[in-house]
Amino acid sequence: MTPQLIDPFGRKIEYLRLSVTDKCNLRCFYCLPKGYNDFNPTSQQLTQDEIVRVVSAFTEMGVRRVRLTGGEPLVRKDLIELSTRLSRLPGLEDLSLSTNASLLAQHARGLKQSGITRINVSLDTLKPERFRNINGGELSDTLEGLMAAKAAGFAPLKINMVAMKGINDDEFNDMVNFCLEHDFTLRFIETMPISAAGRKGSEHYLDLHDVEKQLQKSFEFIPGVMPGGGPARYVQVKGSNLRIGFITPISQHFCETCNRVRLTASGTLFLCLGHEHMIELRETLRQDLNDMELKTLLNNALALKPERHNFTDRSQQVVRFMSKIGG
Ligand code: SAM
Repeated sequence: MTPQLIDPFGRKIEYLRLSVTDKCNLRCFYCLPKGYNDFNPTSQQLTQDEIVRVVSAFTEMGVRRVRLTGGEPLVRKDLIELSTRLSRLPGLEDLSLSTNASLLAQHARGLKQSGITRINVSLDTLKPERFRNINGGELSDTLEGLMAAKAAGFAPLKINMVAMKGINDDEFNDMVNFCLEHDFTLRFIETMPISAAGRKGSEHYLDLHDVEKQLQKSFEFIPGVMPGGGPARYVQVKGSNLRIGFITPISQHFCETCNRVRLTASGTLFLCLGHEHMIELRETLRQDLNDMELKTLLNNALALKPERHNFTDRSQQVVRFMSKIGG
């Protein structure tokens, strides 16, 4: 019988975050250092067939949702073909994408046709100069990408904003108003001390409970809306459809409901964002491994899933970049 994915703490794993490339065309200072270029060679990247094979094994064991991430997923040349194949896998209910949207304008329609159901866009500021300082990119490209995704029929589009003291803490109201105007969902994220870059970002850490209090001076919130499979706690802005989510890995971790694992572009399966527990799949996949053996391997890997991350007590321990593991 095909095993179902249940970890040692009784958590059912039904969500896979799939990094399709470790390459990124931006350098968010809290994610990748400026000038960083030490990406994996293509030979070390899982091929399209290898990805489809692993995801297929996962879906046969109960994974229902897959999010394509990176690096920047749109940098991968065969992304549309890959998502078309993944979206057809039996059992997969939701295929979503996280992107910085800088290349989205030319791909939005193709992505929609390929079966991507939802898109999250990372956007930390609405000021062009500040955007350049945070990540080296052009705000206009990302805004164009966002609008193209909206025109292609992606709804609700979610904006992910990393809240940072001294960087963008004067823009929370503006971002709420921007999302009200365009009918986007907004999610605030706390900085996580992942890698040296993440620790640099964490120097600007803001507890989102304080952000929420700050917003309540201008907006009235209805709490407890949109409970979902994810880590965000949502409120709704009274008198509107706008939902605002708070993702608080540091001030209030949500590990007890963790339902996910992460596969990197080079085939490493990580069991937790905040630990080094992993198994290497790429070379095994390139040997003579049958589907049942692959499933047994994936199922056995769950024994390594830790109960919770340790960002607050042992923040030095995660050395790899967020872009490698797939944020
Ligand atoms: N390039 C895609 C994007 O921009 O959404 C996908 C990958 S990116 C690593 C995924 C998310 O991780 C982004 O929303 C980014 O802001 C977030 N992220 C990266 N480093 C982070 C950190 N140290 N703390 C909190 N969020 C981080």
